[in-house]
Amino acid sequence: MAKRDFYEILGVAKNASEEEIKKAYRKLAMKYHPDRNPDSKESEEKFKEVKEAYEMLTTPDKREAYDRYGHAGVDPNMGGGGGGFGGGGFADSFGDIFGDIFGGGAGGRGRGAGPQVYRGADLRYNLEITLEQAAGGFDTTIRVPSWDKCDTCHGSGAKPGTSPTTCTTCAGHGQVRMQQGFFSIQQTCPKCHGSGKVITDPCAPCGGQGRIKRNKTLEVKIPAGIDNGMRIRSSGNGEPGTNGGPSGDLYVEIHIKPHAVFQREGDDLHCEMPISFVKATLGGEIEVPTLSGKVSFTIPEGTQSGKTFRLKSKGIKGVRSGYAGDLFCHVVVETPVKLTDKQKDLLREFERLTVEGGAKHSPQSKGWMDKVKDFFE
Ligand SMILES: [Zn+2]
Ligand SMILES: [Zn+2]
Repeated sequence: MAKRDFYEILGVAKNASEEEIKKAYRKLAMKYHPDRNPDSKESEEKFKEVKEAYEMLTTPDKREAYDRYGHAGVDPNMGGGGGGFGGGGFADSFGDIFGDIFGGGAGGRGRGAGPQVYRGADLRYNLEITLEQAAGGFDTTIRVPSWDKCDTCHGSGAKPGTSPTTCTTCAGHGQVRMQQGFFSIQQTCPKCHGSGKVITDPCAPCGGQGRIKRNKTLEVKIPAGIDNGMRIRSSGNGEPGTNGGPSGDLYVEIHIKPHAVFQREGDDLHCEMPISFVKATLGGEIEVPTLSGKVSFTIPEGTQSGKTFRLKSKGIKGVRSGYAGDLFCHVVVETPVKLTDKQKDLLREFERLTVEGGAKHSPQSKGWMDKVKDFFE
């Protein structure tokens, strides 16, 4: 036996207030109450029916689900389990799933009958820049796709002389009811994608889209200090919406090319600095590259390979922090190669004197030898 409509059972209108529902329930409950109708199976059934209708229509979540999906929305025997679906969240999640299946597009969907309005898709543009450009900021232009209304069909998408016809699947509503298992669900029409209209003779130049893709030049201001992976949003420069929906946004994503000298870490810069072993030994002035030109500083006598010198505020001024990072110079002592006989003789003489001078000249080597000795004993 088909279930009767809850509103019908209580004899109230669909838009009845809670007060009206309560009043109708009290009246009918008194009428069919088992105490008043002993041994009447029919009254007992009616009483149960009235009670169920009252409980459903006075629980806001359930009433909403019932209004939307009928008995399938609230009946625990019809697949929901546990009864009720907690209202809007349920409807939203289903709406989204079906929107995806039928190519409904991203976000911004309106509810209810009539053609659906969609926001256009967001676009991403990958912009490759140099580290210097990122550090200093710059203005540039990029070519991005844009869409113009088709001149031939003036945006209708229909071949000149014809016009779009009302979609027969949804009768122009843009929405259809579909049975999905136990659920009857209202969703975007798969044939017309919610527009309510079907183009039988598509306009040739635009392929029935009503718009033609072109390119346009966009000016972009890249702020100083921008980092790899950051995005700049250009509002409304994405794909156009459907049925008058707003355009999506354009995101310019920054990709910084590897630099020959510097590695960037946040707003700090790192570089390797090869120096001769003589310079490392005697100390002295060295020239260090920075993004704003060379600077010189003095390294102390006996600088070891791997030593890091920090040049304060010679990094990149962060786009968010507003103050500059540091430059870290990592010293690499270079072993000289391709020496002449005279250079080699001088080094042998130097080595002889160094050994004579004992461990004080090579504290690292001495420490290391001691560890090895301990290891073998
Ligand atoms: Zn056209
Ligand atoms: Zn349709």
